[in-house]
Amino acid sequence: MSPGHSAGLPRHLAVFGFPVAHSVSPAMHNAAFRQEGMNCVYSAFQVDPANVQAAVDAIRALGLHGVNITIPHKESVIPYLDEVDPAARQIGAVNTIANRDGKLIGYNTDGRGFISTLEETGVKLRGLNVVILGAGGAARGIGVYLAMAGVRQIAVSNRTVRRAETLADVLAQAAPDVPTGAVEAYTPDEDRVLATADLVVNCTPVGMEPDVATSRVRNIGVLPAHAVVCDTVYRPLKSLLVREADRRGLTTVGGLRMLIHQGACAWEHWFGRMGPVDIMYNTALAALGESRA
Ligand code: NAP
Repeated sequence: MSPGHSAGLPRHLAVFGFPVAHSVSPAMHNAAFRQEGMNCVYSAFQVDPANVQAAVDAIRALGLHGVNITIPHKESVIPYLDEVDPAARQIGAVNTIANRDGKLIGYNTDGRGFISTLEETGVKLRGLNVVILGAGGAARGIGVYLAMAGVRQIAVSNRTVRRAETLADVLAQAAPDVPTGAVEAYTPDEDRVLATADLVVNCTPVGMEPDVATSRVRNIGVLPAHAVVCDTVYRPLKSLLVREADRRGLTTVGGLRMLIHQGACAWEHWFGRMGPVDIMYNTALAALGESRA
């Protein structure tokens, strides 16, 4: 039990972000708690970047049981935690904090959630040629977990090629046996790596509302017929990239499943078991529908 938590009171959990009003996490976790008959409450707190340390201290002072961290605090919370899981340390970002008897431990379930999503889709990662589009926080989280999952090689393609090179180096450190490379977005070099890709993951916001008519892959025709196409974008639920890949008959995975699985994986750190994926998915789907209405 977290210090500050008394028997009879609900366990409190939260997401810290800035802004955070659009987050579907409270709806999806609270629906899961209700279904499982758990005396837990999940709230969203808008935390100004100047108050990150005070907000982490409040986790201890108030005895919050667990917290999710979202943009822009995933890196800045790290110095204030007691311990950081090695994969999260390699990624350089924490999205989940567990409060174990007042000791705050940081994890990253974005990458782990992505791997669960692929497992659910029946994709076997071992030996795959991977292309990661983007080199920001999502690309780092997904890339480190893919590298550790035994894929054959990873190419990072980014608009700013220097950032692609930096991420390729981070991935090479995470898994020294997996060759990594960097190319520049929207170039013939990118088309060349896409033409031999088994798995392509869009980790950029290209295609996100309101720019729904854009796709990070300019010519879906360059991909092999067996390629699996994943998009981290979940507003809209099916990005143009996913729709074009669907039309070509490729296997596709949208960003909402990944969002659900990162939430379900957070439960493992808070409660010692995965969260119930179906209720979380249906609730997030309804919440996203409402937020667009
Ligand atoms: P980030 O750290 O800001 O990185 C953004 C990346 O996108 C950078 O590599 C950037 O390239 C690239 N980019 C931005 N605009 C571009 C454009 N017009 N053309 C080509 N590349 C462009 O952001 P992030 O945290 O990684 O998030 C990226 C996406 O993942 C967002 O859409 C976010 O919503 C999504 N996401 C989804 C989940 C989920 O659970 N589904 C979880 C986390 C994130 P430069 O380096 O050249 O700037």
